[in-house]
Amino acid sequence: MEVIYTVDDMKRFVKNRQANQQTIGFVPTMGYLHEGHVSLIDYAKEENDTVVVSVFVNPLQFNDPNDLDAYPRSAERDTDICTARGVDVLFMPSVREMYPKGMGMTMSLTKRMGVLCDRTRPGHFGGVLTVLTKLFHMIEPTNVYFGLKDAQQVAVVDLLIENLNFSTILRPIPTVREPDGLAKSSRNVNLSDSERQDAPLIYRALTEAKAMVKQGERDQQVILAHVQSVINQSQHAEIDYIELLSYPQLEALPTLKGQVILACAVKFERARLIDNVLVDL
Ligand code: AMP
Repeated sequence: MEVIYTVDDMKRFVKNRQANQQTIGFVPTMGYLHEGHVSLIDYAKEENDTVVVSVFVNPLQFNDPNDLDAYPRSAERDTDICTARGVDVLFMPSVREMYPKGMGMTMSLTKRMGVLCDRTRPGHFGGVLTVLTKLFHMIEPTNVYFGLKDAQQVAVVDLLIENLNFSTILRPIPTVREPDGLAKSSRNVNLSDSERQDAPLIYRALTEAKAMVKQGERDQQVILAHVQSVINQSQHAEIDYIELLSYPQLEALPTLKGQVILACAVKFERARLIDNVLVDL
């Protein structure tokens, strides 16, 4: 596996692979890789000639400096995992390399915003759009892999690709979970022991609510109240949001029909966790 640190080297690698008619599968990450990321890598391996994984903790998408500081990092662990999974290139640019002169522009969306994480982390998706646009230009991926754990991000990337005519194909990948249901996340290492014990309540709440919907419950207040009451069994969890919307449009639904997302964000002392379930009605 090749580890690349500069934009020029990354572009050179891509041109070389393109000259050899190779397809490129791209997995953008913020590192501290776990089985969720590995699942994306495995799909990319299966579907492309070459796999590029990026590890970049993008300061632009953190609206809270404490959250950026607390974000776990380990280049060694990430290198070992990528090597073991047969990744071709691990792209690990520095902040200086990605933003040598800072940014003289911002990006924003007018759709799929004002809800979920955009409501409680304003500016986050602007940073995501900016870094992904840069990475898409550098890597020109044939296919790009994103986890449905970050379902709003998938919806946002879908709009980015369509609106800016990127020729990459978006591949949304199902959420990988711990045996007790907790969605794998780099942030889980920041949970205390007792918070870790409570954290599976999030997925339990969502799956129970999904079962209620499947059994015919259509009162959105009843569904949201159920999720709230299950998560509130934890003394450590503070609910950031619980929302029920159309997916991927992320619009409020007068009546539940079509593809629906039930998503929540929950704050613990040093980790804010998000999760969701999709329901087809
Ligand atoms: P992150 O490093 O947290 O920015 O995540 C990088 C990519 O991995 C994103 O597309 C995430 O949605 C995806 N991802 C993170 N956790 C999981 C998971 N548990 N299952 C599947 N994909 C995930």
